[in-house]
Amino acid sequence: MSEKQAKEFFSEEEKLSIRDAIVAAETHTSGEIRVHVENHCKGDAVKHAEKVFARLKMNKTAERNGVLFFVAVLDRTFVIYGDVGIHSHVPENFWDSVRDHMLPFFKQKQFTKGLCEGIRLAGDKLQEHFPHQDDDKDELPNEVSFS
Ligand code: CA
Ligand code: CA
Repeated sequence: MSEKQAKEFFSEEEKLSIRDAIVAAETHTSGEIRVHVENHCKGDAVKHAEKVFARLKMNKTAERNGVLFFVAVLDRTFVIYGDVGIHSHVPENFWDSVRDHMLPFFKQKQFTKGLCEGIRLAGDKLQEHFPHQDDDKDELPNEVSFS
């Protein structure tokens, strides 16, 4: 049985659900959340996610408060990567707790549900430290991206 490649990993409807979850989270926070999907993850997963983060210009937000959910579908790897502005505010194990919450969904192949849950948790946490501002800019696209 062939594995689903990154680009067809989510149906159109699932992509919209993820986009909507990001839009909903970003109505409460100035933080910027993205989901990026690739087939493979070269070398260390966190280092790879860090490179993707920079490639997507997620390190260019005004408050350095971007959060990337990176999924390598064929390697079954998954990383949550938050920018430096967030590190000083969240407990060290916070991203692990988000990940732990998402993994049971992933194990049941409910990837969209798992991501939407993670996005919601990340948004709630971001809101505590980076509340939404009246003059907020949507600094980064909300659509799932692929490469
Ligand atoms: Ca924003
Ligand atoms: Ca955005």
